[in-house]
Amino acid sequence: MRAIIFDVDGVIVDVRESYHMAIKETAEFFLKREIPLEEIKRIKFSRGINNDWDATYEVIKEFGGEADYEELVRVFTDIYNKLKFKEKQILSSEFFKTLKEAGAVLGIVTGRPKEDLEFVLDRFGIKKFFDFTVDEDDVVDKNLRKPHPFPLHLCMEALGAEEGIYVGDNRADMEMVLYYRKIYGKPVKFVHFRKVVDLDLPADFSTDSEEDLRNYLLREVSPSREAERVSPP
Ligand SMILES: [Mg+2]
Repeated sequence: MRAIIFDVDGVIVDVRESYHMAIKETAEFFLKREIPLEEIKRIKFSRGINNDWDATYEVIKEFGGEADYEELVRVFTDIYNKLKFKEKQILSSEFFKTLKEAGAVLGIVTGRPKEDLEFVLDRFGIKKFFDFTVDEDDVVDKNLRKPHPFPLHLCMEALGAEEGIYVGDNRADMEMVLYYRKIYGKPVKFVHFRKVVDLDLPADFSTDSEEDLRNYLLREVSPSREAERVSPP
């Protein structure tokens, strides 16, 4: 069985008004000056920093400041909790419903803390579509978090998948898949969904269209399906 596993931020949820702004506002709290959003994105995406607390820490360091990590997490969490209602759904509920109806097994591997993952899945009413989810709290050892392939391994094993497709939007996602192939050896493809952040990344498939993504995934989980669609009964 080939499972389809999704990243959350930038793929299922648009976090430009929440996490990206929380990085900016937290960094500004410690630096006591304004930092352009473009600088925030440059640091996070060019370095492939998956965890947004780490990204905030890097921004503060880059601009010559310092912060106690635990205090940073507290400030960040307060700011994020005020901004999280601005998050918008990217891939539609219909998209996931169609995949489930085609018999696909769906999972999530995200760097979100559990509380934030539950919040967003409940808010958009899409929790029911996922057979297993792995969040940041499931991986206690920081060294084993994305881009380390351990979270993907956890999800693949829990789903009982022999093959997989991981849909992500940034460098850490791509690296996690490449490391997974080396360490755990099962064939997993990397699909780059670049609707929100347009990066140049090597991928088995790349698109910014929900429709193209849906058609690709339907073909991948059921190769005979394409033939069925061409000549409907
Ligand atoms: Mg992402």
